[in-house]
Order: sequence, then structure tokens, then C-alpha cells
Amino acid sequence: MTACPLCATNGPVHDFTRTCCRVRYLLALPGLDARRCTLARWRHEHGAEAADETEAALTAAWQQRKHAARHQPSTLAADQRPTNTEVAPSHDRRATGEI
Ligand SMILES: [Zn+2]
Repeated sequence: MTACPLCATNGPVHDFTRTCCRVRYLLALPGLDARRCTLARWRHEHGAEAADETEAALTAAWQQRKHAARHQPSTLAADQRPTNTEVAPSHDRRATGEI
């Protein structure tokens, strides 16, 4: 996954025709239900192939985060919880009100 200029600056604007921006947007959503609903809508709007690609990239991004968390002692407690995927990055909260 290559980050576009929008993602490189982590700006408030998302280009939803790009997988990188869709994944960045989903990662900022507060809960699993919100991500599922958004993915389902994109499946309808952009097609199954784009949705599958986004889902795969999202899963890869979470695995990267989990892997990174294991190397940071301060986040070990959160990493041990089985539902760690519910944690959203606080610096991305501003993007959640865009739809
Ligand atoms: Zn992007």
C-alpha cells in the first residue's frame, strides 16, 4: 500500500477512490460496527473488488499495529486484550465526522 499525499500528511481530507485513504478513514472510526457499515457501503459504491482490497489492507494495517505494540512496554496491557482491534488512534478523531 502506497500512501498518497493526503495520507502522507495525515490530513482531514480523504480520497475514497484510493485504498490508502479508505484504510486511513476506517482506522480512525471509533468502533467495529462503524467500520463494517462503511465497508458495506463502499462494497455497494465502489464494487466488491475495491471493498475486498480495502478489507485486506485494513487487516494488514491492524496486524502491523499489533506487532508494533508488542515492542512498546507501555502498550503491553492493551495488547493482551483479545479485542484490541477496537482501539482507534486519538489523533485521527477529527476525521470521524466527515460522512
Ligand atoms: Zn491516501
